[in-house]
Amino acid sequence: MPENSSRIEKPMSEFKAALHAKCPKCRKGDMFKNSPLGFLGQKSYANCPYCNFQFEIEPGYFYVAMFVSYGMIVAEMIALAVGTFMLTGSESPWLYIGILLGVVLALSPLNYRYSRVILLYWLTPNLNYDPKRAEKPYNEQ
Ligand SMILES: [Zn+2]
Repeated sequence: MPENSSRIEKPMSEFKAALHAKCPKCRKGDMFKNSPLGFLGQKSYANCPYCNFQFEIEPGYFYVAMFVSYGMIVAEMIALAVGTFMLTGSESPWLYIGILLGVVLALSPLNYRYSRVILLYWLTPNLNYDPKRAEKPYNEQ
């Protein structure tokens, strides 16, 4: 790791910023208004409250997040089904339907949140951390 000069603070790591659903440009502003555990709907900001970056890069951009979310749900269901079989050895379809639907419903706020985070952090070309945007809040520039 290169030494940072004392006046530039070290940015949050990419993984940590994604985990906390921070803006991919400045890694300071939040992407969502409420906590990841909010079941009453996840509310996202249209623009980063810190650097004013517009999260939905073009109209309908977050439709792509549905495909990311679909992939996440399929992966979760496969893992759950394999785990359920290994733990119980059961062949009852109702056990699997109950567990898969229950857990996927319980994870839906996280799926919604992280499908957008994954889309912006790792699936959008030319969208990278910009240290200039992290210097000052946009309304103080
Ligand atoms: Zn930002």
